[in-house]
Amino acid sequence: MKYVLVTGGVVSGLGKGVTASSIGVILKACGLRVTSIKIDPYLNTDAGTMSPFEHGEVFVLDDGGEVDLDLGNYERFLDIKLTRDNNITTGKIYQSVIDKERRGDYLGKTVQVVPHITDAIQDWIERVAMIPVDGKEGPADVCVIELGGTIGDIESMPFIEALGQFSYRVGPGNFCLIHVSLVPVLNVVGEQVLEENVKAKLAQFCHIPAENIVTLHDVPNIWHIPLLLRDQKAHEAILKELNLLGHLLCGYVDIATSGPTISASIFNLSICSVARKPALELWTARTKVCDMLHDPVRIAMVGKYTGLSDSYLSVLKALLHASVACHRKLIVEWVAAGDLEDATAIEAPDVYKAAWDLLKGADGVLVPGGFGDRGVQGKILAAKYARENKVPFLGICLGMQIAVIEFARSVLGMCDTNSTEFDPETSHPCVVFMPEGSKTHMGATMRLGSRRTYFKVPDCKSAKLYGNASFVDERHRHRYEVNPDMVSQLENAGLSFVGRDETGRRMEIVELPSHPYFIGVQFHPEFKSRPGKPSAVFLGLIGAACGHLEAVLKYGHASKLLTKGLSNGKPMVKIHQNGNLKPSNGSLNGVYSNGNGVHY
Ligand code: GLN
Repeated sequence: MKYVLVTGGVVSGLGKGVTASSIGVILKACGLRVTSIKIDPYLNTDAGTMSPFEHGEVFVLDDGGEVDLDLGNYERFLDIKLTRDNNITTGKIYQSVIDKERRGDYLGKTVQVVPHITDAIQDWIERVAMIPVDGKEGPADVCVIELGGTIGDIESMPFIEALGQFSYRVGPGNFCLIHVSLVPVLNVVGEQVLEENVKAKLAQFCHIPAENIVTLHDVPNIWHIPLLLRDQKAHEAILKELNLLGHLLCGYVDIATSGPTISASIFNLSICSVARKPALELWTARTKVCDMLHDPVRIAMVGKYTGLSDSYLSVLKALLHASVACHRKLIVEWVAAGDLEDATAIEAPDVYKAAWDLLKGADGVLVPGGFGDRGVQGKILAAKYARENKVPFLGICLGMQIAVIEFARSVLGMCDTNSTEFDPETSHPCVVFMPEGSKTHMGATMRLGSRRTYFKVPDCKSAKLYGNASFVDERHRHRYEVNPDMVSQLENAGLSFVGRDETGRRMEIVELPSHPYFIGVQFHPEFKSRPGKPSAVFLGLIGAACGHLEAVLKYGHASKLLTKGLSNGKPMVKIHQNGNLKPSNGSLNGVYSNGNGVHY
């Protein structure tokens, strides 16, 4: 196993997570199997109890781990599935050491930061790096470790010490340190690209070769970052540190003559995968398509935390993946749910009008997940607007619950119906607390992680979007659910609970068959959306919002659109196996063609 450690300096928010995932992408493109670990030096055991307003979204893994949003970047960029243990926190490490101490495992010794905490960190990394995350058997070749925070933070010191020791533990040729730092550029016009003399100075002061210094300037979209790394040969510098460059060079020769895959036995290598020239054709093609999109699709995001877009990071990414697949430029209109409420009309009429104008100008409405009652009435009004005006609607988790509340109020006439989360005394609880939840402990007590949903009604939009599957596994994070005792009443009035859990008593997907696209899901489909593999229900929303739902349903399943993109309901651009973009529609001739083919 080889390790790449990514640390950060000067300030946080530099894009260290994106850089680390991009390093993973380029190493993967070199034919290596890549896993990753994120270290968060805070004391929380996991991100589950942290406010998305402060820390960005809580990302949920298949195993129910509630983790830092950077793990979402790794999963999306590398198309892998991580485990809760791939996110290390100070809380987890100390808890494991204190548990051991209580069991008497330290045999009377004084338990100290060095060596006990530092050993626990190293053991954890070694153990977790071996877990396969790409669906294949056996451990990956390279583990990218990202250390959160910046060098100099008090709380990251035990990790720095542990990782320093770790570089000796794994030995030379197996460890590569990458430091991401801010280089301020004063009074410049244009891009902040490092000049040679600055590189020379940095090289001298940091004791590294100048060719190991890479500039990552601002780019139109983050998919460019792996390409910037490749263009500056960052992969060669990393592979050299990891003693894999010789293999890469062998690969160069063979790729040209006998195709991209080289059997490890030919070169008698000690690792199972062989580093080859980075194959980033599809990635490059998708990045270019994304840059060139011009026809907009406007989605109103009606949520609570509208001030920090990271609070909804995966939802935004899922919208982007679906928009790129439909060849539309995504425009997200942030609508603070509270601004749609009657109280705002009185207190701040301008704010109220602006919020309603945004909602009414949108091609589709999305109500994401959430907790607590702030803004709930505004979300209900947004769902009502979308339902009555036949505007495409997707409700996620809380978004599904409020859609059910709205329907019960407006269509069944149950004015006081509510979720017991917001009104424990309601006489018609249409959303109720799940029996297995805990009301006293907040951390890891929700219904979490991957659960199966069975399609009860095969002839529905969501089943078609999921490729006519009979079931689908998606990730969950909730405490409340639709009251099973009210389901038949709601169904008789026209709402259809098309997806349910294995007992048939837990509602997972709700649709309004009489509406062009009105879907609510109890799970969070955003966590499994990938660039090039958009989530089915997001694809449905965007397809419907640009008037192409029929075509999306016809081409079926999300993954088929990967190579098809849609324009006026017809496949627009085909991304060929070699990454060349060929317009299949005469009117677009040349626009997406990259004449010379792609790099490599
Ligand atoms: N608050 C709701 C529940 O706990 C919805 C949760 C969510 O949207 N993630 O069920």
